[in-house]
Amino acid sequence: MDFKKYIQIVEDYPKKGIRFKDITTLMQDGAAYKAAINEMTDFARDKNVDVVVGPEARGFVVGCPIAYALEVGFVPVRKAGKLPREVISVDYGLEYGKDSLTIHKDAIKKGQRVLITDDLLATGGTIEATIEMVEQLGGVVVGIAFMIELGYLEGRDRLENYELFSLMTYN
Ligand code: 5GP
Repeated sequence: MDFKKYIQIVEDYPKKGIRFKDITTLMQDGAAYKAAINEMTDFARDKNVDVVVGPEARGFVVGCPIAYALEVGFVPVRKAGKLPREVISVDYGLEYGKDSLTIHKDAIKKGQRVLITDDLLATGGTIEATIEMVEQLGGVVVGIAFMIELGYLEGRDRLENYELFSLMTYN
């Protein structure tokens, strides 16, 4: 399937000079959304994944259906102040801004095999922070799956020790 035709490029959002890739138009189409999730799930199928981890909010949009398909659990990574129980946190830099991410301290057991998912890889900061927390809890990152990779931001270079999958790349 030509997934790119379902992505809308929004000029100057959320800031001047950024060409935002909007995935809501892909999600709106049942067949395209299902095909995208199926391909991402196929990447993970032979990896003996124990749990899927994804950062809010669009990491949930891809991570939850993949977890369901793999019949494993899903663990949310959220912005500071959003998770109700004891968390660990990491500061990270975004393509446009700075923030901190958190995960429940008991969400991952030592040695669990973790698939990380997000809608889009830009600089890699969000996923690097997510990996750091998963590894602090003793999880083993066995793969990282994105819908979209922005090749020109070279986020892949920061994640060179991990197996990466992306459905679409923009250069
Ligand atoms: P990174 O941390 O890799 O620089 O930025 C990736 C994060 O920012 C992802 O969680 C993603 O949701 C968000 N993001 C950055 N640029 C875009 C974009 O053009 N489209 C979408 N859908 N998300 C973006």
